[in-house]
Amino acid sequence: MALSKSQDWFADIDFTDAAAATARIAQEFDGWAPELTALITNGETAPVLRPLNALPVGHRWDRAPGVTLLGDAAHLSPPNGEGANLAMYDGADLGTAIAAHPDDIEAALTAYEQALFVRSAEAATEAARDFEALLRRRHPHSLIDLLTGHQQ
Ligand SMILES: Cc1cc2nc3c(=O)[nH]c(=O)nc-3n(C[C@H](O)[C@H](O)[C@H](O)COP(=O)(O)OP(=O)(O)OC[C@H]3O[C@@H](n4cnc5c(N)ncnc54)[C@H](O)[C@@H]3O)c2cc1C
Repeated sequence: MALSKSQDWFADIDFTDAAAATARIAQEFDGWAPELTALITNGETAPVLRPLNALPVGHRWDRAPGVTLLGDAAHLSPPNGEGANLAMYDGADLGTAIAAHPDDIEAALTAYEQALFVRSAEAATEAARDFEALLRRRHPHSLIDLLTGHQQ
């Protein structure tokens, strides 16, 4: 299960005590259908805390000769089903830029990064919007709106 909480909130849970941690997480779903909460309480494995990190929307850097970034290293965002696609697109775009400037790697990296920054900012904005719909804003109705196209 995914929860949008502060790191302090999670720090108060003792994940070495599987039963207590499971009960604390299940408490967040009080009132949900028992068939669904059973997915939490009847599991056979201990819960593992896996924080989601993200770079700021619009993240960019100054050109450093001979090196660049792609994929999550360039634009780590909340997961919304696009991260691997973007990483592969970045790789293809970088290869295209190098092929277009075979004798000038700096020109290739500059061209690649200029397009990357615009593409990444748009994708990160979308990922942040989806994350809000998934975990923060009147879910699950906001997610249903997103999937059925009712949200602007
Ligand atoms: C919960 C979750 C669900 C997701 N679902 C989807 C999805 O449905 N669809 C989708 O497209 N994307 C999804 N993503 C995002 C996707 O997994 C990432 O965007 C994608 O894997 C990024 O690829 P990458 O090659 O940039 O980085 P990574 O896949 O993280 O690869 C980086 C590699 O570098 C290695 N590494 C790190 N440091 C070093 C070092 N010092 N030396 C050597 N190697 C090192 C790591 O071990 C790793 O293998 C999801 C992500 C999460 C967290």
